Amino acid sequence: MTDGFDKRITKIKDNVYHIYDSVDAFYSLIVGTKYALLIDSGYGFSNVHDIVKTITDLPIMIVNTHGHIDHTQGNKSFDEIMIHKQDCGIYKRHSSLAFRLAVYLNIRKFVPKQQRNLKNYFKRHKTTINAIEDGDVIDIGDNMVEVILTPGHTKGSICLLDKKHRILFSGDSFSSHVWLCLKESATIPEYIKTTVKMMSRMSEFDKILTSHSLAVFKPSLLPKIKHCAENLSLIKSREYYAVPVGKTLIYKEGFEEITRRYGYRNFNEFLHHAHEVPVTEISDIEFTSIVYTKDKLA
Ligand SMILES: [Zn+2]
Ligand SMILES: [Zn+2]
Repeated sequence: MTDGFDKRITKIKDNVYHIYDSVDAFYSLIVGTKYALLIDSGYGFSNVHDIVKTITDLPIMIVNTHGHIDHTQGNKSFDEIMIHKQDCGIYKRHSSLAFRLAVYLNIRKFVPKQQRNLKNYFKRHKTTINAIEDGDVIDIGDNMVEVILTPGHTKGSICLLDKKHRILFSGDSFSSHVWLCLKESATIPEYIKTTVKMMSRMSEFDKILTSHSLAVFKPSLLPKIKHCAENLSLIKSREYYAVPVGKTLIYKEGFEEITRRYGYRNFNEFLHHAHEVPVTEISDIEFTSIVYTKDKLA
């Protein structure tokens, strides 16, 4: 391999890996005794199959946390994938050549040249889609991974609960920066219900791994993001430009700690310098933010 991908693989614990794709997207791998489970697959610039094969020889199952392009396009190097039935439509739209081209033109400057394999990126999809549902369990041998429907970021977003390693893979559903600003996002009251549902399972995991950070969050992220969603109001929010949505709103809690420690006064300034902040500190700072549009309030 020539794109230095091996430096992008982080071992979280034995048999659990978090792998950097590109443009701030990560995917994860849980190695069982019969199968390895790949959670998401990134933008698809690299041949994800070849990367995963450097970690394990086991047959690979692929599950996507939702249908967005930054989580699904590495699927092209596999024969079949699993995704929640509610996100199949988004997945198909984001897999179209026109959509991939539009996104490519936006992100290409952020992808290092040696990682920009356009043959892979624009490869045709021949992958079979298997629709999954809330409560389904993926058996990888010594470990059962449960599918938990978590509507919010998209209506068919799921989290994967790895019961053996006590890790929740939260995709874009739960992190310190949640986007509910998309056409396909659920409303804020629906998202609050989702956080309550996930909080009822908090005794089953010790770590939360998200799709856009190396930071390992504690389960206490969930009550914090719920508090943020419940306290959110138009008057306390600020305008926020979210590519590719355009003008949206952002509501933040706990940002004062980032200002105190690092001096960044607003979220954009923090985002710009986020790579300078140690990942352990990112998971430690009690900071949450929700990006939304007015129509999601009710
Ligand atoms: Zn997403
Ligand atoms: Zn994402």
